[in-house]
Amino acid sequence: MYDVAIIGCGVIGAATAYELSRYNLRVVILEKENDVAMGTSRANSAIVHAGYDAQAGTLMARLNVEGNAMAGPLCEELDVPFKRIGSIVAAFDDFDEGVVQKLYERGMANGVPDLRIISAEETKALEPNIADNVRCSLYAPTAGVICPWEYTLAFAEVAVKNGAELKRKCEVTAIEKTEEGFCLSTNQGEICAKYVVNAAGVYSDKIHDMVLPHAFDLIPVSGQYDLLDKSEGSRCNTVVFQCPGLEGKGVLVSPTVHGNLIVGPSAEEVDRDDTATTAEVLTMVRNRAKRAVPSVDLRQCIRNFAGVRANSAVDDFLISRTENFVDLAGIKSPGLTAAPAIAKHAVELLKEAGIDLEEKENWDGKRVRIKFNEMNEEQRRALIEENPAYGRIICRCNTVTEGEILDCLHTPIPPVSVDGVKRRTGTGMGRCQGGFCGPRIVDILAREWGVSPVEIPQDRDEAYILTHETKMGN
Ligand SMILES: Cc1cc2nc3c(=O)[nH]c(=O)nc-3n(C[C@H](O)[C@H](O)[C@H](O)COP(=O)(O)OP(=O)(O)OC[C@H]3O[C@@H](n4cnc5c(N)ncnc54)[C@H](O)[C@@H]3O)c2cc1C
Repeated sequence: MYDVAIIGCGVIGAATAYELSRYNLRVVILEKENDVAMGTSRANSAIVHAGYDAQAGTLMARLNVEGNAMAGPLCEELDVPFKRIGSIVAAFDDFDEGVVQKLYERGMANGVPDLRIISAEETKALEPNIADNVRCSLYAPTAGVICPWEYTLAFAEVAVKNGAELKRKCEVTAIEKTEEGFCLSTNQGEICAKYVVNAAGVYSDKIHDMVLPHAFDLIPVSGQYDLLDKSEGSRCNTVVFQCPGLEGKGVLVSPTVHGNLIVGPSAEEVDRDDTATTAEVLTMVRNRAKRAVPSVDLRQCIRNFAGVRANSAVDDFLISRTENFVDLAGIKSPGLTAAPAIAKHAVELLKEAGIDLEEKENWDGKRVRIKFNEMNEEQRRALIEENPAYGRIICRCNTVTEGEILDCLHTPIPPVSVDGVKRRTGTGMGRCQGGFCGPRIVDILAREWGVSPVEIPQDRDEAYILTHETKMGN
């Protein structure tokens, strides 16, 4: 019998496991996919929002501002890429100016630090490529950009290192209330726990309904993006938002923490697992982006992707506790930002439910990984001398070495696919999108795992790259 079962290992489940791993508890995380961060947490704008969007007085407003403040020290401790580059919401007409004023007032009520409205001249000084007709903007220096999947992975790795169990490919299909807690039916058998945390993202309504009467509906809303090459990475200095208006939330143009430029998202109601992109929607996204940053060179697009928001009719997160069951449901944007604060809040809710929180003496929250491309010549030489695998560059776009790929195979949550390696080391994220390094990674994985290359999936199980061997010997 576990103390806590967490359903879902996106950023919310992972951050909750990380917080709970500080205590002497038996914690299990159940994730239906073959890796962590396979849902919304890997496909979003990757902005650490300042906190002026949410209505004052909501849980979302409080947890956004708290989560933003936590991101700096946490990313330092967890070795997660994060840059506090600030954001602007640019106004281009009378309507926009009214919106900027409202957002400013909301931000002040939410306690967003250093928020101010800046003139057209100041905006242009900050963002020389902004459209000439900019009137003013809301400047939030505390906003930042982060690597969302590494944030998720880092939380989960630290949790596992400190004793939490992660069961991948483990789908919860039913939950039964028992005298001592709950019994969860999964494709890996029955798993019992005294407390259950529902962090199932766009499926959190389904999990809720397995335990409690139906209380809310989720509305999955897709957001499609263009990701541009690093040659466009300095087109903007901050996250450039447009005003949310009658057409929906504005399209942003922003540097990513990896040095690319991201343009998007759109907003269309879809099925929960629909992460398709379409030419029609992307054309709309591109046209809107050009309204704010006309010179953006969209021919430099290296990838399109889409993520699905767990929206609901309520303008807040759907966080609540019923006895020993905690819902962390409907975690729409700014859920990535709020994740560490949501996790602390979840622990408080479990405490209210009577969980015994005895701190571990030897909890270790530190995570470090070797990043060859951030080292100077001297450090590189020393590393290669120690282990020649760091001298073999596998990903030429991002200068990722074989040594780093081998390292990630020995982390607390090793990858099981080529994209799993990508999320852990940055391979395949450059201009060639894995065209050059992909086959070499397949070879390394096949060699290290002692399997045939045809058994290596690209991402999800059975998404094989190679169908069969062509040279079967004589
Ligand atoms: C287009 C878009 C842009 C966004 N931009 C931002 C942003 O810039 N900043 C920000 O702060 N937030 C942003 N967000 C919101 C943020 O991405 C989400 O709030 C956050 O990722 C939600 O995390 P989660 O863990 O709740 O969900 P998920 O990451 O989806 O994780 C849920 C997990 O549960 C698993 N699961 C589901 N059902 C089961 C089951 N039955 N058994 C076992 N496992 C199960 C899934 O496989 C999944 O891995 C954006 C979202 C979108 C879609």
